[in-house]
Order: sequence, then C-alpha cells, then structure tokens
Amino acid sequence: MMQTPLLLTQMIERAEKYFPKKEIVSRTESGIHRFTYKQWGERTRRLASALSSLGVGEGDKVGTLAWNHHRHLEAYFAIPCSGAVLHTINIRLSPQHISYIINHAGDKVLLIDSDILPLVDKIKDSIPGVEAFIVMTDGDLPDTSLENVYHYEELLEKGDPTFSFRTDLDENSPAGMCYTSATTGNPKGVVYSHRGIVLHAMALGLADTTGVCERDVALPVVPMFHVNAWGLPFASVWFGTTQVLPGPYFTPGILARLMQDEKVTITAGVPTIWLGLLNEMEQNSYDLSSLRSVLCGGSAAPRGMIKAFEEKFGIKFMHAYGMTETSPLAVIAASKSYHDDMSSEEKLDLKAKQGLLVPGLEMKIIGKDGEVAWDGKEMGELTLRGPWIASEYYQDERSQDAFRDGWLYTGDVVTIDEEGYIKIVDRTKDLIKSGGEWISSVDLENALMAHEDIFEAAVVAVPHEEWQERPVACVVLKESSRGKVTKDEILDFLKPQFAKWWIPDEVIFMKEIPKTSVGKFLKRTLRDQVQDKIKQ
Ligand code: ADP
Repeated sequence: MMQTPLLLTQMIERAEKYFPKKEIVSRTESGIHRFTYKQWGERTRRLASALSSLGVGEGDKVGTLAWNHHRHLEAYFAIPCSGAVLHTINIRLSPQHISYIINHAGDKVLLIDSDILPLVDKIKDSIPGVEAFIVMTDGDLPDTSLENVYHYEELLEKGDPTFSFRTDLDENSPAGMCYTSATTGNPKGVVYSHRGIVLHAMALGLADTTGVCERDVALPVVPMFHVNAWGLPFASVWFGTTQVLPGPYFTPGILARLMQDEKVTITAGVPTIWLGLLNEMEQNSYDLSSLRSVLCGGSAAPRGMIKAFEEKFGIKFMHAYGMTETSPLAVIAASKSYHDDMSSEEKLDLKAKQGLLVPGLEMKIIGKDGEVAWDGKEMGELTLRGPWIASEYYQDERSQDAFRDGWLYTGDVVTIDEEGYIKIVDRTKDLIKSGGEWISSVDLENALMAHEDIFEAAVVAVPHEEWQERPVACVVLKESSRGKVTKDEILDFLKPQFAKWWIPDEVIFMKEIPKTSVGKFLKRTLRDQVQDKIKQ
C-alpha cells in the first residue's frame, strides 16, 4: 500500500472543499458569533501567514491561553498546518506552573484571551523566551505592560487568505503539545504527532465509539486546553460537523440554553459538569431532545448520574476513559448487540464501567502475578500501547516511570470482566489500603452520589493505627437537603451495598469538594482538609 502522510492539513482542506457552508458557532464576550467553514478556513490561513511573518517556523512552539471559541479553533489548525506546534496551556494552573510549562516547552509566541492577559502580565518576567503576544478579543487591545503585543484581528486583516499549508511534513512530526495537570511536582508534557491526532480523530468517528459525523452538532464543554478538547475539534473539522464552542465563564443554565438553541447532538465533559447540568435540568425546563449523546470522562461517571440522564431525561450517556498521554480516547462503554435483552439495571451496571478498548489500541492489565484473569475481580494496572498513545514525556526524566518496554503504565488500577469490559477501580494513589485489602474510593463515591439528597461526594483515606488506612466520606448535600440528613442515615444507605469493612469511619459534610483545574475531585487537598478536621 502507499505510504501517504497523515497530516492535519488534510482535515482543514477537506472541510473547506466539502463543507464550506457548515457552521461554527461560538459564544464570545460580545454574544453569539457564527461563521462558515469557508470563512473559518480563510481566517485560519490568514493567521498562519501572520504567524509566519512574525518569524514562526517549522518546529516552533506557539502557546495558547484561551477558552473554547472560534479563534482558538483557528489556532488549532493555523499552527500545526504551517509546521509549528500548537501548545494549549491550561489557564487554570497556578501562575508558577504556567511559567514553568511556557519555559519548558520553549514557546516563542503566545495567543492570549483578553481576560487572561492580566495573568500573563504578572508572569512576564519569568517567561523571557516569548517573543510576541497576540491578544484574541472582539474589542480594543487592553492596557498591558507587555512588549511586542499584537491585536489578533489586526494581524488577520494583514494576513493572506490564500496562504498555503504544509503538505510535505513528516506525519510523525509534532503538531500539538499538552501538559498534564500536576498533582505532585511540575506538569509533564506530552507531544502529539500529526499521525497520532489524525488516527485518534478517525477512532472518534467509529460507530462503536463516539460516532462523530457530519450530521452532528458537537459542543465540547471539555476545555480546548485539556487534551485538545478530547480531539473533538479535529474530528469535527475533518468530518464537517457543526461545532458549538461555549466560550468563557458558562454556567449550567448557559450550557443548557446553548444546547437547546443550537440543537446540539453530542457534547463532552467531566462528571462535575454533568452533575451541574442535571441539577439545572431538575430545576428549569429545557428541550434537549436533539442530544443523542453525552460523552463523559476524566473521572468515573457515577451510576446514579447515568441513570438520571437516561431514565429521567431520556438522554443517552456515553462513559469513556482516557488521559493526556492517550490523546485521550482509549476505552469506551459500548454495549454489544446481544446485550439488548438485559434488564435496565444490568444495562446501567454495564454503562457505569468504562467499557471496551478502542479498536487500534492494545492493552495488558498487570496484576501481582502477571496479567490478570478476565473475571471482573482481579485487579491490576492498565498498560496501553498504540498509534495515539504517547511514547514519552517531553524532555522529562519521569518518562522512565510511566513508559516501560514500549508500554504506557497508566497508574490506574482496573478489573476486566469475561466480556472484556474494563472498570477503573481507582488511581493507584487514591486506593484505600485497609488491613492489607484494597477499598475503591470510586465505588463508594458512586454509591454515595446515587443518594437522592447528595449533590456530590468524594472518599479519601486517612491513616489508621490498626488498619493502616480507613475511608472517610466527604459529602455535599443538595441545597434543599442541607441540615436534614445525618451521618448515620448516609452510612445506613451504604451498608447493604458493601462489605462491613468498606463502610467509611466518618462522614464529613462540606459546602464544596475541592476540584482540580479541569473539574476533578482534588483528592490530595481533600485528604489534608480531612486530616485537619479529624484532628480538631
Ligand atoms: P490529570 O492527570 O491532569 O487529571 P488527565 O485528564 O490526563 O489529567 O487524567 C487522566 C486520569 O483520569 C486517568 O489516569 C484516570 O485516573 C482518570 N480517568 C479518566 N477517565 C476516567 C473514567 N472514565 N473513569 C475513572 N477515571 C478516569
């Protein structure tokens, strides 16, 4: 067969040729912005020519500090299709980590949303390598102490709408970069190749995965700075999918209205987003009948939440697993044709698992004595390999821990059942080790979040003299239930569902559970808070 390179250039050229009339809708600081793929293509070429006139060349890193919007989507293609590297920066990291990753990646130019400019102003002395700053805004250039600052729209006006993208790149050359959010130490960088992004996008289009297609209207709630919004912008451009980008500072109400008004068919985000949306849908009425699928990943989707989406609101829920190092889609919960006869409870059990390995990838689950049995019980660490799995961290000694013998060690403890369905038991570091046995914080959280008075819940380990560690539940009650539910009622709710030694020693009621920059429970901070509370 021919060896033709898989490049992002093919994606944008296809969108321009076949889908010039399809739309990209963006919620911006000044309202809803709409344009077509044709207009987007011209602006993307203008941006690429502007970057090249600023001296950005092959292999140069261009950072973005931006929300999900049309200009960010222009950067998503202008940068890699001219041979440079799109480095999406997580704007919710600490200023120290943001400077670290800008310097570590070696960003030459930064594209910045105007509301994020003050942050960059503050760290400017610690990022001397950045040669130019481009501000993305509908309005005028805000006041800034930075030098070499350009207005995005003014640059585009001078740019060339017929600029030629690179078709001669090596498919293995870097197209993108993303750093994992650091729970300990500095963030670690992952470099995505053109080939990896293209094959991952193809995997997103499979009917048995997310099945993204031309007919879809896709709304990625997951930020474009978090693992490329799970690859949806790339797949959507390639397939001519209508895109709806939710912009900055949205609330569950804003999201629900946007989904209703734009007749969104597929959306993607972490469980905390969907808990918020559920709460909103319970309080106000929306017509979300266009939604064919809610894609959920990043942490375990509680069974109770899946049930509410599917049974109360008739919206299909799709549970998936991945990580920055896996582009991210690696495992997705799809039922098999012969599962149609299952009871609704059995179907829910299946959907609460993360699912089957995506075609194109390979896995091994390594337990105490080699590969684990497919019995849904034996636990082991998930290891993965494949064309969209990273092979190392960017210039980082910590690569040796995670990448061994050609496999990525995910740090996630899983089981696999007779049918090949993977269930994430916990992150290695979040498992609770009690009396020599393991307790899954995820299982306890799932059960707690199925309680009708509980809004969200996280379970962490506290040190224990006799048992080494014991679980403690941190619970946020729904507003209407605050002060009305006791610790014993919650423990009684858990007792029939778990072995006695799994039941948490303590229930702590909280106003909010601390979250990471991408909306996951921040277990490390929570553990510290819980220990302080218990000592008091
Ligand atoms: P970070 O490490 O910064 O949180 P990632 O998004 O790369 O960023 O996180 C990947 C991790 O998230 C996985 O290793 C796993 O522990 C967890 N994860 C992702 N999807 C799921 C899921 N569906 N269920 C349970 N855990 C998940």
